[in-house]
Amino acid sequence: MAKKQFKAESKRLLDIMINSIYTHKEIFLRELISNASDAIDKMYYRSLTEKISGVSKKDFYIKIVADKGNRTLTISDNGIGMTKDELEENLGTIAKSGSLGFLDGRNAALGEDADKDAKKAAAKAEKNIDIIGQFGVGFYSAFMVSSEVRVVSRAYGAEEAYEWESKGADGYSIRPADKAEVGTDVFLAIKPNAEGENYDEYLSPWKIRELVKRYSDYIRYPIKMDREESVPDEAGGDAQKTKTVISEETLNSMVPLWKRAKSRIKDEDYHEFYKEKFHDYEDPLKVIHTSVEGVVSYDALLYIPGRAPYNYYTRDYEKGLQLYSSGVLIMDKCAELLPDYFSFIRGLVDSQDLSLNISREMLQHDRQLKAIEQRIEKKIKSELEDMLAKDRESYEKFWEAFGLQLKYGIYDGFGRNKDVLQDLIMFYSSKEKKLVTLGEYAANMPEDQKYIYYAVGESTEKIDKLPQTELLKDKGYEILYCTDDVDEFALKVIMSYREKEFRSVSGGDLGIEESEAEKKKAEKQAEENKDLLAAMKDALGDKVTDVRLSKRLKTHPVVLVSGDGLSLEMEKLLNAMPAADGGVKAERILEINANHAVLSALKKAYERDKDSVGAYAGLLYDQALLMEGLSIEDPVAFAGAVCALIEKAEATA
Ligand code: ADP
Ligand code: MG
Repeated sequence: MAKKQFKAESKRLLDIMINSIYTHKEIFLRELISNASDAIDKMYYRSLTEKISGVSKKDFYIKIVADKGNRTLTISDNGIGMTKDELEENLGTIAKSGSLGFLDGRNAALGEDADKDAKKAAAKAEKNIDIIGQFGVGFYSAFMVSSEVRVVSRAYGAEEAYEWESKGADGYSIRPADKAEVGTDVFLAIKPNAEGENYDEYLSPWKIRELVKRYSDYIRYPIKMDREESVPDEAGGDAQKTKTVISEETLNSMVPLWKRAKSRIKDEDYHEFYKEKFHDYEDPLKVIHTSVEGVVSYDALLYIPGRAPYNYYTRDYEKGLQLYSSGVLIMDKCAELLPDYFSFIRGLVDSQDLSLNISREMLQHDRQLKAIEQRIEKKIKSELEDMLAKDRESYEKFWEAFGLQLKYGIYDGFGRNKDVLQDLIMFYSSKEKKLVTLGEYAANMPEDQKYIYYAVGESTEKIDKLPQTELLKDKGYEILYCTDDVDEFALKVIMSYREKEFRSVSGGDLGIEESEAEKKKAEKQAEENKDLLAAMKDALGDKVTDVRLSKRLKTHPVVLVSGDGLSLEMEKLLNAMPAADGGVKAERILEINANHAVLSALKKAYERDKDSVGAYAGLLYDQALLMEGLSIEDPVAFAGAVCALIEKAEATA
């Protein structure tokens, strides 16, 4: 029979697997056991929902047989099995495509030169394997310890069985096989020992027992292995004679992790479970394990990951918790259990109060489920607050990964969720030079400060240089720096915090109290420059709604600010959206520093020749646009005007 080729992606993945110097080869066993357990889950669920008679939970098992003489290790299960097509589909391709595309991107980023350095290449390969784990391609790990893998399977409801066989990257073949019972046997031809690699140990009952205990103890079906024992053979009355008896032992405790007493679970147990189940290579930041008794009772095991999955901020990411009904898995990703803003949570919920037959449609109306969701949401919130208060370092790591999601959560709900989320968000502070919460900001406000100020820009460095921030900084007011697109939208939706409104440093009015003397002085200056400012406004036409003297500048000559509605930053964003027609416009006000030499110069020019200020107004306006990070209408004309100025200055010098 002709050999079939793996899909290109799978082949590359296998290459990486087989040739890797990955140090954790032993995890192949937990991967195969976990697949067997998944297959039994499916079978058991079906037997319950379809009321298949004669199937009972205690009939299910996973069996490991190690044959030292033939160097084979077999992992069998009586789960749902695979049809011929499923063998092809599940073992011949990587279901979650895109994983290798991701690796390619990563490797390009790491620089292909790294390959020249053996050590770096090795580190890279290891990282690759870790990443691969994220995509759930556990089956392939069998090739790390095997020279050949055979999978004999008979699907539930199928008359015939099939065998899938492969020696690795060169392809696989599928042929009919004999198998009386429904289920799957995975045969591994264990590699011979090699330099620095002891593959023999995977054939040792002692080692297998240890691996099962370490990685798969919580599996809810018995993992069995035969135990050989020498016992005195009393049949002949000869005490010296022994015989070998074989008994079957169960290697795992079968108590699911979430059903165990918390005091008896080590962090490591929680972490291993998380990594295996949710395909992460890093420990989670936090484990939340709760048991609730009441109107609705449930156990929940929830994890806050330490980093965002590669596809977290894409449409591909699917939120949800595993849902069990009295230990029977009924759904892999129950979205109804998590609000969108906590979609990063991984974990499971097990409740005896849920019906096994609950369908996707019914979920949304299920009151029990709703009650669980609400309690879970509260729990997550309080755990995050706790982390924020007691373990800032972890919280900042969390924030780095998922802060954006919380801010979107505030914006998405039009403020509906602000009570849940507003004390969890952070911004970079002009004063502290690090992330602060709104609560911290409010606590640090001087008596006379009436508003919470924020500034928007591409980066904290750029915002730091904005002319608009000058006076506020001078007064000792703290400014929150908004560098993510969603930031300003989120703040607008929150509107106020502890009765202090948010104000943009570029907004029409900073709302700073002035003394009577300051007020008088400002009025006088405005009066003196009335004609000049009006002439400038005329010259700028409908580009601006006003030209006025500034109350927020100290050293900079001009600044562009918006009125009280849409900000310039929001204008930029809205116009960058795919459906935008460029028609969104924020109000623009050009402010001039009354104490800057440029104003006296303008005045002089205006007195000499009333028409000369038009060109200067244009220049100053363009300059203000540039500082705002907005593009100017006619850069060539701007450049020409700057040159003309230089020439003039030199000609009169
Ligand atoms: P994952 O378990 O994350 O889906 P794997 O690479 O471990 O990825 O397995 C690929 C697929 O092969 C599984 O999703 C399952 O459909 C199928 N499979 C693997 N082992 C078994 C088994 N023992 N019984 C039934 N199906 C299996
Ligand atoms: Mg798997």
